[in-house]
Formats: sequence, structure tokens, C-alpha cells
Amino acid sequence: MEFLRPATWDEALAAKAAHPDATAISGGTDVMVELNFDVHRPAAVLDLNRVAELAEWSVEGGTVRLGAAVPYARIIEELSGPLPGLALAAHTVGSPQIRNRGSVGGNLGAASPAGDSHPALLAAGRDVFVEAASVRGTRLIPIDDFYVGVKRNSLEPDELIRAVRIPVADGPQQFSKIGTRNAMVIAVCAFGFALHPKNGTVGTGIGSAAPTPRRAVEAEEYLAQEFARRGLWESGEAPGPEVVRRFGELVRAAASPIDDVRGTAEYRRHALAVMARRTLTWCWNDYRKQIGSAA
Ligand SMILES: Cc1cc2nc3c(=O)[nH]c(=O)nc-3n(C[C@H](O)[C@H](O)[C@H](O)COP(=O)(O)OP(=O)(O)OC[C@H]3O[C@@H](n4cnc5c(N)ncnc54)[C@H](O)[C@@H]3O)c2cc1C
Repeated sequence: MEFLRPATWDEALAAKAAHPDATAISGGTDVMVELNFDVHRPAAVLDLNRVAELAEWSVEGGTVRLGAAVPYARIIEELSGPLPGLALAAHTVGSPQIRNRGSVGGNLGAASPAGDSHPALLAAGRDVFVEAASVRGTRLIPIDDFYVGVKRNSLEPDELIRAVRIPVADGPQQFSKIGTRNAMVIAVCAFGFALHPKNGTVGTGIGSAAPTPRRAVEAEEYLAQEFARRGLWESGEAPGPEVVRRFGELVRAAASPIDDVRGTAEYRRHALAVMARRTLTWCWNDYRKQIGSAA
């Protein structure tokens, strides 16, 4: 097995162009498990750890540009203000060791339907983009187009993820995950939710309950319409039990889970409705406090 160790981003892109079948390795928390268990035996491994800019983040024009290799531990420490949903999701990943190494770039590379970043990225809105680069140039892939199948993403063989662009939160965000125990657990199912008061929308993300991470489109539209119709963004009044219940039903209907060792499809549907109702209520309570203190 060839081991490629570029020192710069340009070298990394050149190496990927020359070896499109090389497996990139960032934190290695997915790749090393697969190598150790002989799931894959790639012809080459492309180690990205010397490319310093992959582990950096910046804020540009209201958008966080999160380097692909920034570990979860730093997202929790440094980005819980601008990216509260992603930071909450990061809290639930693995153990301290995994959070010190694992990254959102690696989560996107693996594209598991159970990856915890995905519901938070989807909920953060439609202006979330994966920055994919190759020697041919850079393209921004909308997060909604990124997940194309079970553990498959829309990267071309010669592309690497440079960063993820995520709007700075303009309202409360939440993430909820159900596992078979409290920690170190792959999600039975997960749900991300965000309020976007600036444009009067809400964001959702469903994890581990469909072949790919996905949003609950009808649920998002329903809530945005109800909030607008009832003037709730302005008044801060609670949406009421009927709206909350209907939102949960629409999230449940958006999932297409399977029965597996972690849980049944029916349990996942039920749990999603519960998480949807809870995260909406938590976010709304926070939103009321925000507009109350602003008044
Ligand atoms: C004990 C344990 C517990 C875990 N718990 C969780 C959990 O709770 N939640 C969860 O979501 N995940 C969990 N994982 C899985 C893993 O930690 C995450 O998916 C993590 O985000 C992977 O990041 P990484 O940097 O380690 O990726 P790597 O292992 O380095 O790479 C993962 C994939 O992404 C590709 N890749 C990496 N960087 C790039 C790049 N820049 N461009 C293109 N492709 C790239 C690799 O080729 C590979 O296919 C766990 C893993 C272990 C071993």
C-alpha cells in the first residue's frame, strides 16, 4: 500500500489527481477501523494531516468556513456560539479520544446515514455548502445535493473536501440523538432543528432513519407557514400543542427507516416525532427569551 504525505494543499490535490483511488485520511477514526478490520485495502492512503489550513476555521461575511479537519473537540470549544447545532451534535460523537481526532470533513467523506454532523448541517439551512476541490478547481456542493446514497457522497474521485461553509446561526438550534446507551454510540436515530428568524424559515435534519441524511421538507414548510400566519416570529407566542404535534407527525412521515440491530423502523419513526416536538419546544423557548431580552 502506497502512503502519500503531502505537505501543502496543492500537493494534496496533485496527489489525489495522480491517485484517484487513494483513500484520504484525516482523523483516521473511520479509516483506521476499516483498515484494521480489512474492510478495505486501498492501493494508496493520502494523509492530509500535514496540510495546516484544513484544521483552521474563519468567519467570512456571516458564514463560518470550517476546515475539513477541524476536530469535534475544537468545534465544541470554539464554535458553539456561531454553530450551536453542530457543536451540540459534536458533543454526542464517540468519546473524548474520537472527538479529538474526528472531523466533519471525515464525517462527510464517510457519508454514513448515522453520522452526527449531517442532521445539524441540514438544519443549518439551504446555504450550507461543501467546498470540494481538485486540480481542476473548486466547486461548492449544496448540502442537499451532497448525500447520494448509503455511505455515498457526490465527490468526484479526484476531489477532496477543503471546508464546509455554514451560515452563522441567527436563531436557536438543537440536536437530539437516541442511542442504545448514553455515550460511545452510533445513533439509533437523530434529529437536528434550527430556527431561522431572519428569513422566517426553520431547518430540520434527520439522521439514521433513511438511506441518506435528509431534511423533513413538508415539516419545515408547515412550520414556516404556521409561524407566518399566526405572527409568531413577532409575538413570540408559543405555537400551541396542535402545531407542535403536527410538526412531529410530518417529521415522522419524512423518514424511511429500516429495522436493524440498533432499533426497529417503527421505534425510529416514533422517536423522531418525539425529538421533533422536543427540539422545536426547546428552540422556541430560547427564541422567546431572545426576543424578550431584545425588547
Ligand atoms: C469508537 C468510535 C466511535 C464513533 N462514534 C461516532 C459518533 O458517535 N458519531 C459519528 O458521527 N461518528 C462516530 N464515529 C465515526 C467517526 O469518528 C466519524 O465519522 C468522524 O467524523 C470521522 O472523521 P475523521 O476525520 O476521523 O475521518 P477519517 O477516518 O480520516 O476519514 C473518513 C472518511 O472521509 C474521507 N475523508 C477524510 N477527510 C477527507 C477530505 N478532506 N476530503 C475527502 N474525503 C475525506 C476518508 O477517505 C474516509 O472515507 C466513531 C468512530 C469510532 C472509531
